[in-house]
Amino acid sequence: MHVVGIDIGSTATKVMAIDKDKNRIGMAIVAKPPGTTGESEAIDALYESSALVAKDCTGIVATGYGRLISEKADREVSEISCHARGINQLLPNVRTIIDFGGQDLKAIQINDKGIVQQFLMNDKCAAGTGRFLEVMSRVMGIEVSKLGDIDAQATKEISISNTCTVFAESEVISLMSVGHEQADIVAGIHEAVARKVTGLVMRVGIVPELTITGGGALNKGLVGALEKSLNTRIWIPEIPQYTGALGAALYALEDVSKRQEKE
Ligand code: ADP
Repeated sequence: MHVVGIDIGSTATKVMAIDKDKNRIGMAIVAKPPGTTGESEAIDALYESSALVAKDCTGIVATGYGRLISEKADREVSEISCHARGINQLLPNVRTIIDFGGQDLKAIQINDKGIVQQFLMNDKCAAGTGRFLEVMSRVMGIEVSKLGDIDAQATKEISISNTCTVFAESEVISLMSVGHEQADIVAGIHEAVARKVTGLVMRVGIVPELTITGGGALNKGLVGALEKSLNTRIWIPEIPQYTGALGAALYALEDVSKRQEKE
């Protein structure tokens, strides 16, 4: 038997399968937004890439931005609860989570059981989210996945003063037009995002240990800028982008045990 968690994010759907002992036994990601074939493609990819058989699945929970339109799930759980539950299994000492997703940013404090104590979210503005990085990398003609390596080559500090995405885009174009090095501009972009994230995290407060989940955790340049700005070590989970999907799978497993207790 196995259960599945589906995280229908704003930029990608992530799925995670776990067995009755909470072992991770399959996962897949499809980079498509909610309301597309992303969810069914991700489920197909899960079964194609593992030895699992769909008929052995006893429960599915959906989370993420598009969770309410899931066509596969038995029920949905908020992203905040799923990230908390997922990180508690991946990094049990973590008490503060920065979830850096494609379209929103969250700061979440949890207890030792992975229960949410408080949280704050920035979902009205692209600054401090993956969208900001996507807009900036598009204008610079580079892939988001290359930002970390490019940042590592920076030699000069450049400050991007605008955190508003539209103004920052013009500022980046202007820096490019006067011949600044790409790496220095990228490092400046990460520093600007880190400033924005720090503002939100400080309002929640940091109880150690601190982690970052979501796709932003894959960007070493962003993580480095954040560690500098927050003056704290950030622990990175093994599978940061799947934290929400793992949490959803853990909820699905709990549902199955509750059902079995009743029978
Ligand atoms: P969502 O759940 O909203 O779809 P994710 O947690 O999947 O968001 O994160 C998406 C964001 O993560 C992207 O906007 C991008 O900034 C970043 N990202 C995704 N993949 C990578 C990568 N390989 N390297 C660096 N950053 C990445």
